[in-house]
Amino acid sequence: MHFATLASGSSGNAILVGQDERSFLVDSGISMRSLLHNLTLLNVPPAQVEGIIVTHEHIDHIKGVGALARKLKIPIYTSQAIWGEMEQSVGKLADNQRIEVNNKFSCAGLEIEMFATSHDSRESYGLRIERRLPGQGVLALGIATDSGTITEEMHRCLKECDALVVEANHDEDKLWQGPYPWYLKKRISSIYGHLANRQLAEGLLEWIGENTQRVVLAHLSEENNTPEIALATVVRALRASRPIRKNKDLRLRVAPRHTPHELIVLREN
Ligand SMILES: [Zn+2]
Ligand SMILES: [Zn+2]
Repeated sequence: MHFATLASGSSGNAILVGQDERSFLVDSGISMRSLLHNLTLLNVPPAQVEGIIVTHEHIDHIKGVGALARKLKIPIYTSQAIWGEMEQSVGKLADNQRIEVNNKFSCAGLEIEMFATSHDSRESYGLRIERRLPGQGVLALGIATDSGTITEEMHRCLKECDALVVEANHDEDKLWQGPYPWYLKKRISSIYGHLANRQLAEGLLEWIGENTQRVVLAHLSEENNTPEIALATVVRALRASRPIRKNKDLRLRVAPRHTPHELIVLREN
């Protein structure tokens, strides 16, 4: 199984996930042009993309969804409630491009479980994506951004994933001392807003297992965070945990805002 963020942050989010020559996108919150450009930077032919899964209807997750689905003639997967919110902005689609999903489904040969995050959209979801390995095992990628708090569902679905793409939105001091208007500070820090570095670090202490190979910090705020602060906060917390210190394979990095990070191919052992 492989994955890469293609863009990350309130200026637009998209993640490529796949195996072998098959892939799908999780959100497409940048323009179709930027998305296709970022795929070429990863050497992934657009024809390999078989669908787009939408986590929620905010513009930084759906901006390019309709145009891209029409161009590539691929379906969009999301819940009935999110379809209701985004139908107009997505625009005209063929009937077989509009797929309502809830809980579990598959795409590009991978099994997907949706789980609720806590956010101020109609509904919002994280994803646990599994590849069944020959024999008994599975390889699991957990994706969760846009959540003001860590939900029980997040704990259940992100625990001991082989890789995680998770939100480190803001540094709490930077947010409260920064230039945002009061109502926006309240919104971001509420349980329906976005996850602070510190909250994420607490979550990671529960989720990282001995098989976890990769953690990508995503959806960083441009105003209220920096890659250095996010990394330092998380590293400080993880260093205090002896089991995590023993996991020598673990690699941590920050998703760039406008460009893809390298295609990460998970080891299958
Ligand atoms: Zn959102
Ligand atoms: Zn967002």
